[in-house]
Amino acid sequence: MKITFLGTSAATSYPLVFCRCDFCNQARRLGGKDFRKRSSIIINDDLLIDMGPDIMSASFMHNKSIADIKYCLQTHSHSDHFDASHLSTRVPEYMGVNIPQLQLYGSESTLKKMSEMVKNEGYISSLFDDKDKKRLNLEIFPVKPFQSFQVGKYQVTSFPANHDKPVDSLLYAITEDDFTVFYGTDTNTLSEETWESFQKKNLQFNIVILDHTYGPDTDSGDHLNANRFIEHIKRMKKENLLTENARILATHISHEGNPTHDELSKYAEEHGYETAYDGLVIG
Ligand SMILES: [Zn+2]
Ligand SMILES: [Zn+2]
Ligand SMILES: [Zn+2]
Repeated sequence: MKITFLGTSAATSYPLVFCRCDFCNQARRLGGKDFRKRSSIIINDDLLIDMGPDIMSASFMHNKSIADIKYCLQTHSHSDHFDASHLSTRVPEYMGVNIPQLQLYGSESTLKKMSEMVKNEGYISSLFDDKDKKRLNLEIFPVKPFQSFQVGKYQVTSFPANHDKPVDSLLYAITEDDFTVFYGTDTNTLSEETWESFQKKNLQFNIVILDHTYGPDTDSGDHLNANRFIEHIKRMKKENLLTENARILATHISHEGNPTHDELSKYAEEHGYETAYDGLVIG
C-alpha cells in the first residue's frame, strides 16, 4: 500500500490566511514542508479520502492524478474536506472523457449534506437521484458506523468520529492484503465503543494517521491536541493495536500551538510519532 499526503492542514490552511502569529510568519518564510494544504490522502492510485478544496493544486504539486480515482471515502462534509465544484465537473457539459465510474462512500447524513452542496453548484438536483448519478458517472454508498465493507480490493471499516455529530462523521480503517491504515481525522477523543470495535474486528494498524489539530497544551473545538494524540497512541500500543514497525503520523495541523514542521517533528519524535507533510509518500 502506498499513501500520498495531498494535504495535512486543518480547515484554515497553514499558515492561516489572515494571521501574522509567529508560527504563520515562520511558515511563510520557510515554505516547503511548512506550507500545508487542506487534509486529504490518496491510497495507491485509486482511493481518495476526502475530496477537499486543495486536491487539484496538490495533484499538480505532488504529481498525483485525480483522474485515476475510482473510490472516494468521505469523512464528513465540512468545507475543508469536501469541495462540491470537483464533483460538478463530472457532468457531461464539462466534456471529461474516459474516466472510471466513481464510488462515493460516506454516512447517509454526510452524503445528504454533500448533495445539497453539489445542488448549489447548479448542475444536478440530488446525489441520490438515479438520473443525476448517471450524469455524474458515480454510485453512492451510504455507510453506517462500525460497518465493514469491500471497496474494490480494499476491506474497509468505518468508525464514528467524535466530530460534527449531525452529519455522522466517520473515520476509516482500510486494509489491502495484510496491511492496514487507520485514517483518524477529524475527531476528538475516540469513544469506548470505537476502542471495543477495534478489538472485536481484530484490527492491527501498520499506519495510523491521526488528528493533531492543536499543538501541545493547546485546546479548542472538537479535535485532538498533541496531548490527547499521545494518549491515543499509548492506548493503541497498550491494547496491541499496532504492528511492530507501525508508523504514527500527525495530520490536520493548525497554527494553534503547532510550531514549524522541524520543531513539531522534534517534539513528535520524542513522543514516538511523526509529523506528516504535504507530498509525503509512505508505505
Ligand atoms: Zn477538517
Ligand atoms: Zn497564525
Ligand atoms: Zn471537520
